[in-house]
Amino acid sequence: MAQLSDDCFAFGGALMPVDEALAIIAARLVAVDSVEQVAFHEADNRVLADDLLAPVPLPLFANSAVDGYAIASADLPQDHPRAFAVSQRVTAGAVAQPLVAGTVARIFTGAPMPEGADTVFMQEDVEIDGETIILPPGLKPRANMRPAGEDIAQGARAIPAGTRLRPQHVALAAALGLTKLHVRRRIKVAVFSTGNEVVAPCMPRTAAQLYDSNRYMLAALLVRLGCDVSDLGILRDEREALTSGLKQAAQKHDLILTSGGVSTGEEDHMRAAVEAVGSLVLWRMAIKPGRPVAMGVIDGTPFIGLPGNPVASFVTFAYVVRPVMLALAGARMEQLVALPVRANFAYKKKKGRREYVRASLTVLSDGTREAQKFPREGAGLLSSLCETDGLVELAEDCEGVTPGDQVAFIAYPSLF
Ligand code: AMP
Ligand code: MG
Repeated sequence: MAQLSDDCFAFGGALMPVDEALAIIAARLVAVDSVEQVAFHEADNRVLADDLLAPVPLPLFANSAVDGYAIASADLPQDHPRAFAVSQRVTAGAVAQPLVAGTVARIFTGAPMPEGADTVFMQEDVEIDGETIILPPGLKPRANMRPAGEDIAQGARAIPAGTRLRPQHVALAAALGLTKLHVRRRIKVAVFSTGNEVVAPCMPRTAAQLYDSNRYMLAALLVRLGCDVSDLGILRDEREALTSGLKQAAQKHDLILTSGGVSTGEEDHMRAAVEAVGSLVLWRMAIKPGRPVAMGVIDGTPFIGLPGNPVASFVTFAYVVRPVMLALAGARMEQLVALPVRANFAYKKKKGRREYVRASLTVLSDGTREAQKFPREGAGLLSSLCETDGLVELAEDCEGVTPGDQVAFIAYPSLF
């Protein structure tokens, strides 16, 4: 397990700006160092451990990009159409013979270029006259052919270390003929819910209890990010239950994640519990929804305590847990790319904190993308996350939105 010092998340300010939180996280966390080999087709969503160098060029050999006729550029008609004899026929997968000078080769998409040929006429652009082919003037040398290595040169870095592999990387590894890839081991994350009022959906419930939803949301988010998740259930709001649960989880995990109990009410026991078994700093983050996020270290293992309200949990997951998790997994920090869209709502905001507004996106008939704010704002409204498409990000210095303003929109799928 990664070992951190107890004071690594210490912070002196009153409200922690989101970017400052990210900088602290990036500087303090050490990635898991064990590496394993996986079959290339099982590498989706894993983190590449070393730079992947291309053992072969891509394409592997020069080939035709179209169905047509291959020719040497020295023979290209200059001012007038010219007739050529067809000296061979090269299909995809077949071996080509060297091109006889002054002739063309019938060729198909993906077929190897005959030695001596470097240009291909599309079949639509030629005229067939019995046994001969009439080629028009004006084609550029090397048109319609894909030289070996034009995509990736042999020996070049095809995928940098730290890339979270996606289906297109799996395809690239396959195209390079690689059957095994070196990836970091998956990080192990323990997830707890806390609160005497919280029960699992399969359990009997008293009138004042609610079904746990955070644990399942957080576990699903973590699985999408490629973690091994241990669902460790619900901890009661009691110091003893919390301390023993946390202490045990710290032994076998790279990260401990809880939700609830991190506010400063006297029934919020998480703070004291973490302080009893490790060290804790309460980050009052300058983020809405969100605010109290506890960060700490228990026996060298990082701990994050998210707020209990589901929407606050979701947003702070995206902006605190996700970067922590990626750093521990050895993944390069992935910038969240916001889309400029037009707001069709008014919104008042305090300066000095970042706010995320749940919004649906509509594409108008003129192509304008318009963000529509969810009509209610409560941090407990799960329907607001389900019925919207993403978050409008309002920066610290923004004081509000007027309809027609351009705002930054982050679609939910980019968060996991
Ligand atoms: P807390 O952060 O513990 O003060 O909780 C804030 C709100 O979130 C309260 O209304 C809790 O009942 C609710 N809450 C806490 N944990 C969960 C959970 N696991 N699932 C759904 N709601 C929760
Ligand atoms: Mg609570």
